[in-house]
Amino acid sequence: MAQFNIVVLPGDGIGPEVAAAGVEALKAIGDVYGHTFNFEEKLIGGIAIDERNDPYPADTDAACLAADAVLLGAVGGPKWDLQPKRPEQGLLAVRKSLGLFANLRPMDVAPSQAFRSPLKEDIVSGADMLIVRELTGGLYFGKQTRTETQATDECLYTVAEVERVARVAFEAARKRRNKVTSVDKANVIETSRLWRETIIKLHKAEYSDVELEHALVDSMAMHLVTRPKSFDVIVTENMFGDILSDLASVLPGSIGLLGSASLGATGKGLYEPIHGSAPDIAGKDLANPIGTLKSVSMLLRFSLNLGKEADALDAAIEAVIAAGQLTKDLGGTLPGSEVTKAIVAQIRAGA
Ligand code: ATP
Ligand code: MG
Repeated sequence: MAQFNIVVLPGDGIGPEVAAAGVEALKAIGDVYGHTFNFEEKLIGGIAIDERNDPYPADTDAACLAADAVLLGAVGGPKWDLQPKRPEQGLLAVRKSLGLFANLRPMDVAPSQAFRSPLKEDIVSGADMLIVRELTGGLYFGKQTRTETQATDECLYTVAEVERVARVAFEAARKRRNKVTSVDKANVIETSRLWRETIIKLHKAEYSDVELEHALVDSMAMHLVTRPKSFDVIVTENMFGDILSDLASVLPGSIGLLGSASLGATGKGLYEPIHGSAPDIAGKDLANPIGTLKSVSMLLRFSLNLGKEADALDAAIEAVIAAGQLTKDLGGTLPGSEVTKAIVAQIRAGA
């Protein structure tokens, strides 16, 4: 019996639809396992700009800082594309405020689902990887300069920044298949040499039981789609992780299936599907809720330490996919809300 405070940030586009699915699933888990989830809904992104002229209002920040975990739908949309204030600033602000430095994106292709992949079935069938992307350093946060004829982007990493994200990867590997692939460009880039040296040292000192390999980012891009089954945990810096995780997201066949967790030094985390606000299908009940429900499963596991409950949610999702109760992106005909209902029914039935 426990009480947990969850802040829900529905955001824009299909964000509110998928966030509602997450809340439904948590309520069912609460009923079945005897936990109380207190939900507090707050503004972020475009809707926050519209209502408060601020993509990340102070009361949203205060609520997120006080919560046990944060569940986010999606932010952004064409409506705000040409405005000086951008919905995405809300996302960067919440990550920064919560000190989230590791972005985890699990990606797996169940053999029964491999036919949905745009890649060859035998290549993807059974692939099961976790990409750990560094979230606060590298090119995206370095100093930038610009003149009429030249521009620079500073790429900076410290040993401490590399170590803390590498720890997340090694710890995750111990709970999975015990292998880490560290991705860099150490043959060319100095930050990559620091990255590799730091990881080798940490591995030797604390994680020698975990298998470690190093890959260069260019060949890694190729291997992700030619032999995805050889990878367990992949750890890499900010920009390489951004690119490789979008590449890996095509493996299962729909972006709507994948969730993510962003974690910091405390147990607190931000959980969101990897897809965006999908304005083309917003308000039509077409959005696949599974990416958000996968994020909820990580929320249960990582922030609330409820592994059994997370397993139950994962099993409910698998059962509904296996039964062919699918949204349109997976070739089905069900509205998103019906898929959510089916998963909730599975959770209650599995009790
Ligand atoms: P962002 O810039 O926020 O990442 P985007 O425009 O790059 O957004 P998405 O919003 O993720 O991308 O949409 C990409 C495509 O995938 C769209 O055609 C959208 O309809 C589809 N899509 C995204 N999420 C889902 C979902 N949950 N269910 C079904 N289709 C989805
Ligand atoms: Mg996108």
